[in-house]
Amino acid sequence: MAPRDVPGSPPGARELMALFAPLRFAARQEGAGLERLAGLGATVRGALGLARRSGAPESPALGRLAAEAEVFDGLPAAERLAAVCRMAADLGSLVALPTDLGALARRGRIPPTPLAIPPEGRAERRARLATPLADVPGAHQAPRALLEERGRTTVEGALEFWPKGWQDRTHVKRVADLHAGEPGIAVVTVRTLRQQRMRNGKPMLKVATADGASRLELVFFNPPPWRHKQFQAGETILVSGEVTEGYGGVRQMAQPEVEKVTEGDSANFGRIVPIYVGPADHQHPALRKLMKRLVDEWAPFSVDDLPPEVRVRRRLLGRAEALAQAHFPSSGTDLAAAAARATEPFRRLVFEELFFLQLALALKRRGVRREPGIAFDASPARRAAARALIPFVFTGAQERAFAEIASDMGRPEPMNRLLQGDVGSGKTAVAFAAAMLAVQSGWQAAIMAPTEILAEQHARTLRGWLAGSGVEMVLVGAQARGREQREVRDALSSGRARIAVGTHALQEEGVTFARLGFVVVDEQHRFGVMQRARLMGKGVRPDVLVMTATPIPRTMALAFYGDLDQSKIDELPPGRAPVETRVFGDTQRKKAYEAARRELAAGRQAYVVYPLVEESEKIDLADATSGAEELRAILAPHPVALLHGQMKADEKEAVMARFRSGETRVLVATTVIEVGVDVPNATVMIVEHAERFGLSQLHQLRGRVGRGEARSQCLLIAHFSKAGGEARERLKTMVRTQDGFEIARADLRIRGPGEMLGTRQAGQPIFDVADLYRDEAILDEAREEAFRLAEVDPGLKRPENAPTAEALERWASRLSLARVG
Ligand code: ADP
Ligand code: MG
Repeated sequence: MAPRDVPGSPPGARELMALFAPLRFAARQEGAGLERLAGLGATVRGALGLARRSGAPESPALGRLAAEAEVFDGLPAAERLAAVCRMAADLGSLVALPTDLGALARRGRIPPTPLAIPPEGRAERRARLATPLADVPGAHQAPRALLEERGRTTVEGALEFWPKGWQDRTHVKRVADLHAGEPGIAVVTVRTLRQQRMRNGKPMLKVATADGASRLELVFFNPPPWRHKQFQAGETILVSGEVTEGYGGVRQMAQPEVEKVTEGDSANFGRIVPIYVGPADHQHPALRKLMKRLVDEWAPFSVDDLPPEVRVRRRLLGRAEALAQAHFPSSGTDLAAAAARATEPFRRLVFEELFFLQLALALKRRGVRREPGIAFDASPARRAAARALIPFVFTGAQERAFAEIASDMGRPEPMNRLLQGDVGSGKTAVAFAAAMLAVQSGWQAAIMAPTEILAEQHARTLRGWLAGSGVEMVLVGAQARGREQREVRDALSSGRARIAVGTHALQEEGVTFARLGFVVVDEQHRFGVMQRARLMGKGVRPDVLVMTATPIPRTMALAFYGDLDQSKIDELPPGRAPVETRVFGDTQRKKAYEAARRELAAGRQAYVVYPLVEESEKIDLADATSGAEELRAILAPHPVALLHGQMKADEKEAVMARFRSGETRVLVATTVIEVGVDVPNATVMIVEHAERFGLSQLHQLRGRVGRGEARSQCLLIAHFSKAGGEARERLKTMVRTQDGFEIARADLRIRGPGEMLGTRQAGQPIFDVADLYRDEAILDEAREEAFRLAEVDPGLKRPENAPTAEALERWASRLSLARVG
């Protein structure tokens, strides 16, 4: 396609633009396609000749382009893409590039061979970056304090204080060109200040300013005292804010950000400037100056932890460059992309974080694999025998998962597998069948559940399935004392009992196994990795099957269970009707109770769940207790019982037993029933204070009903006056979908991975820059590189990988969550 004539374009531009298509084509090639790219060099040379003939002026970029074209056709395929990027970069300084080629060009500006720093240089550089801000010459007190207050006490800490946004100040508009209803930036001179009162009597400050003949009025409501001192008549200031039109057409800005303009301040003007979370607008100029200084004078000494060939292969910026650009992006950067952190500097920073996380997992996985494990007999006959104990036919998905697990178990390497499946998808049966493979081969199996109630339930289910098989099973509970406990422990240590079900009590010192070969950890994310390791230590490298309580999004599974192989049950057993979900305001709870009454009258049962948050355990318990009292009256004559976390284990079990038998019709509970309870006759789930539950929790709770063939309902009662927008979003998601994977993705977006895993304090992120919702593509790239490295050098023993090994150690402690799972 011939480029169209662009009116007024410089000589030769048209001929150069003819290169867009071939470069674009070249950039899309991979592997064999790159081999066949020979000829691009000739194409570029031809276009340059034509451009020169039409009068394109000589320039360094044109010269580089010509040199690049000269050698291109002889380049090995592996180097061709980088060369294409460099050519795009040079072409970009001659003519304006379309967006896609612009992105290519930015990669081309990355230096191809990063500086290799000798090890001793690395230590010095690290020490230098660890310099306290207080020792940075020329760092002013005020901006330093802003950083120190936020825990950023060293140069490196300050450099990692990421902006929340950026403002383009390369071109500042004239006041006359500002449009009402749009955000604007202008440089104006202060004229006069006027104090007024608003209609409600509150003070208001109006500042008249102008650039040349155009007036701009700044308006501040309720100004603090320092505001008045901010303006001196005759001074030049930069203002930014939403432009509005006041009386008589005069342009106004209400509550604008105001900065003083000083001559030659390259940190604050004539460029894209960073905006940080926390500091006020008037504090920003000094903060930016300090940041600019750190970026210019200190960042170049930072150590690049990424292996150089990874950087080159993935076209990642060097760390120093990334730091500089993260704060002060080069002009022309797309600010919307920057705000979404979808720019090259952040791609590099995110990549680095995810690369070291994945490297830790990759090495862990290699390490486990290399040790000898148990090869169980997983022949078709044995598989069929194991399955025959279960009184229903596996769904296709269960069948698949079981086949994957069984074939792992048949191999002599230790298995480390994650079994994911939505609530009620039937993970227990699959785990049981796998455990039976171990038992049939003469080994013991342990199944660890997170709560007593769940352990008891598993024990009851398995006892039923094992009836008549002659296989002995024991329940290892915290409450068993004296003789009973001794008997259980003897059965395990002698090897007589083949299956142990229990809580973390399974890991106690006194519990020993004769021949533990298979471990199931149910509802895994409630246990830390240390606990899992302890149970594993009771056998000699047993095979391990980890089951998650809730589906987790793919990125999270890779990030936190990336050392495990994965199986998925993505299908529910037949005959499950969808659960109807409705949200009620606090005042409409009568309607929810009426719905419950109707179901109870039809012989069904109901759950009513109250939240239990640790800090206010007493208040919440009081809530549940008085709630149970009220419900007894409202739902009479149907029997109501209360179940809560402070009851003793045997009390709890007695309450559950009565509910299971149908004697108790309504179970009022704190979230102890959240995980795994299975009573098919229960068809109503009422959740009080639903606004206080996380999405995964709500999904778990809803999973308690809809287990039989009858239609079930989930009634969410929310106190909207106390709920934020996030809570509303959660409840809407619940009404919209019942797909656990979709809910998990929404949860990840709303809360982030830390809270989803329940391992972090609220609001404390696991990653500094990476976002598992946003950065899936980068995660895949980083994972590929990390696993490639672990494959080539599983101990990171090679000399060229010594820096990576050292870097990994520091990153491992920083990303402590890598160890969960
Ligand atoms: P979860 O995956 O949430 O742990 P469970 O293992 O508790 O699910 O199974 C939920 C319910 O579905 C149980 O009552 C179980 O017996 C039943 N179930 C599991 N698989 C099947 C199947 N293939 N056919 C019929 N019922 C099944
Ligand atoms: Mg379960």
